[in-house]
Amino acid sequence: MAIEREQLEADVLIIGAGPGGLACALHLANLIDAHTKAGKQPALSSENIYVLEKGRELGAHQLSGSIMDPRALRELVPDFEKTAPLDTPVTGDAAYFFTEHSSYKLPITPPPLANHGNYVVSLNKLVKWLGGMVEKKGVNVFTQFAGRELLYDDHGTPAGIRGVLTEDKGVDKNGKPKDNFTPGYELHAKVTVLAEGPRGSLTKEMVNKLKLDGLNPQVYGIGIKELWDVQPGRIETGYVAHTLGWPLESDKYGGGWVYGMRDNRVSLGMVVALEWQNPLFDPHEAFQKFKTHPFVRHIIEGGKLVRYGAKTVPYGGLYSAPKNYVNGGLIIGDSASLLNSQRLKGIHTAIKSGMLAAETIYEALCAGDTSAAKLAAYQAKLEASWIKDELWPVRNFHQAFHGGLWGGLVKSGIQFVTGGRGLVDPMHSEAGYKEYRKLNRDATLVDQSTRFKGDGKLTFDRLTDVYHSGTRHEEDQPCHLQVLDPSICSDRCVREYGNPCQYFCPAAVYEMTMEKGAPRLKINASNCVHCKTCDIADPYQIINWVPPEGGGGPNYEGM
Ligand code: SF4
Repeated sequence: MAIEREQLEADVLIIGAGPGGLACALHLANLIDAHTKAGKQPALSSENIYVLEKGRELGAHQLSGSIMDPRALRELVPDFEKTAPLDTPVTGDAAYFFTEHSSYKLPITPPPLANHGNYVVSLNKLVKWLGGMVEKKGVNVFTQFAGRELLYDDHGTPAGIRGVLTEDKGVDKNGKPKDNFTPGYELHAKVTVLAEGPRGSLTKEMVNKLKLDGLNPQVYGIGIKELWDVQPGRIETGYVAHTLGWPLESDKYGGGWVYGMRDNRVSLGMVVALEWQNPLFDPHEAFQKFKTHPFVRHIIEGGKLVRYGAKTVPYGGLYSAPKNYVNGGLIIGDSASLLNSQRLKGIHTAIKSGMLAAETIYEALCAGDTSAAKLAAYQAKLEASWIKDELWPVRNFHQAFHGGLWGGLVKSGIQFVTGGRGLVDPMHSEAGYKEYRKLNRDATLVDQSTRFKGDGKLTFDRLTDVYHSGTRHEEDQPCHLQVLDPSICSDRCVREYGNPCQYFCPAAVYEMTMEKGAPRLKINASNCVHCKTCDIADPYQIINWVPPEGGGGPNYEGM
């Protein structure tokens, strides 16, 4: 039976209330205010801007290290220092190389990791603050609503988008409506902005369907983070340390961080590119080991774990950027591959791209033309902005490390002195899921009872960490981790890779069990922290992450 759906019409629909999506909404609302005050036509209203956010509240799904370069926020909110919830300015920084038992401080902090003038922030708090300003402007912000499907406008040339279908609520695990069933809404908009962060499910679908891929496929890392309350005096507020080396071998691209925050709080974590060769490598376990290094142990020993989270990071840079405008649609922030992987920063570029999208949309609404030809101004604005100046010299940065750490340091050094050109430009990459096809094929189904458990004080197993992520989902709903061919999991993948989903998922969602003497995949979907790693890293590309019922997922309070 066809479901009758309510249709709502907006001028602008923004999918994702992260820093980019909210910056877009706020800047557009400011432009509309000025337009209205000047008595210009056509009449525009901030009430015709809708923002959709799948988290249970603003900021719930926001996770970053996070050190913010304030450049873009200063443009958006010139006096932001008066009211923004900034944790602390960076007061000192250093880079270290770790061996298992020692650490070596680099004589100088590499310029990309120098953070003077930046702030350590909680992205969760920053986004709540930005969202408050957006709501005051009259923008409609809908939390607990996920964009389930894009509505395409196949009649345009080229094809474009005309809005989104939100998820049906109150559907049981077999797909049957429950008593509280509420059909999703059809939200139509003149312009839909995809601000979903890394590996957005709608962005992925649109890039594939409309063939918007950049020169290289997008490549990702996984970032795993914990917040700790530590004993006084263990780390200076505002001190920022980045690490290379142990426990990551030199064939892995990644490193760790420890940031001193206010009130004896510490942010620590690790990022690792999703390109490792060993299918049994467990990034969560590597991060737990990182905490046992004497340098880190000294800071957190005797302290208390407060929060946990994980999220992917788009490393590909400009050569992995998809075409970012279509008829009726724009892509911004991490979804548009605008993170600077050399500086490990993307909040400032997300905010700036949101502002440039807002300016483009404002001009398009005034002209009554939201075609791709008109929205192409967004790409031109990006090209003319400091985003291009910042990202162009690092366009080959991540690709330089495909041969491992040492070769990567040499190649990126050459890139540094040649303005990003290096020895080959552009450097092509087979990265993304294709890397996983090179995984060792000698893995076998490992006895999971031998897996890392942690000591319960300094190190933890994944379920303890998931508990600290505040994750919660409605249990009786269709599984949002769609395995397109489960027979591969219980046969081919056992033999070929040893079921790497059990290792790369930082939330213990995937579990191989034995049923009647045969392996079977069990999915603990309610543990999912929405990091998207499985959607990227599965060697057969048969895991499709779709948004669960809105409001489900982690609650990254203070992260
Ligand atoms: Fe991340 Fe996938 Fe695990 Fe969810 S199931 S936590 S998206 S790897």
